[in-house]
Amino acid sequence: MRILISADMEGATGVTWTDDVVPGTEQWQRFRRLFTGDVNATVAGLHEGGATDVLVNEAHSSQRNLLLEDLDVRARMLTGRHKPLSMMQGIDSGVDGVVFLGYHAGAGADGVLSHTYLENQITGVWLDGVPASEGRLNAALAAEYGVPVLMVTGDDKTCDDARDYAPEALGVAVKECVSRYAAICTPPQRTATALRVAAERAMTRAGHAEPERRPHRIEVEFDASHLAQATAVVPTVERTGVRKVGFEAADMTEAMKAFKVVTAIAAGAVQGIYG
Ligand SMILES: [Zn+2]
Repeated sequence: MRILISADMEGATGVTWTDDVVPGTEQWQRFRRLFTGDVNATVAGLHEGGATDVLVNEAHSSQRNLLLEDLDVRARMLTGRHKPLSMMQGIDSGVDGVVFLGYHAGAGADGVLSHTYLENQITGVWLDGVPASEGRLNAALAAEYGVPVLMVTGDDKTCDDARDYAPEALGVAVKECVSRYAAICTPPQRTATALRVAAERAMTRAGHAEPERRPHRIEVEFDASHLAQATAVVPTVERTGVRKVGFEAADMTEAMKAFKVVTAIAAGAVQGIYG
């Protein structure tokens, strides 16, 4: 049984604010260990449930956060940037299940460090008209390959969100959101047990599902008009409002590639003080 873990950092045990997840800071160095601990607990549970090959794809920021030297020996890890499928690199039709680990609520929603791709410049994303977090976008991509979402971990808001886009996935809340930068946190010894037990149980749903390939529409709203203007130069992307763009694609793989281009151009167009 081959399992992919898409590992983001904002939803890891103990993480509650910017420095915890910004590479190079002292707090980031500390939380890399807790993040790796969440991954290891999940890998252990997946193996207890029958997984034979677990690939961990780093999905946060520079995508160089996890500590390879501390990784469970049964897992392998995909580190580094510039991967065509980004947070979901490693997905293919031979994968039997995906785990969204350390995920977070989407742009504009309540949740610890909530955002969608860009920290502040994107104020909303819609997939086929429905407000979409990274989890919802990535679940649609997984569905295209016939891969079930087995488990989602993060704060309680992340789990609420997952109940809507992947109702059968097991949710593990490692913290309770109080604000975008505050949470009631559970110590790693306890979250590790919860993650391990849930991962083992989640493996009962592993296996191939019917692939769902169909066209999708994505809309993106920014916090400034020039970002909509800048991203509308991408072929297929239309400006649909002062701060909004939208585009259609033949399938979710193509939609996510276009979304990646839109976010890269927007990130490059952000100015210092006026944003
Ligand atoms: Zn992240």
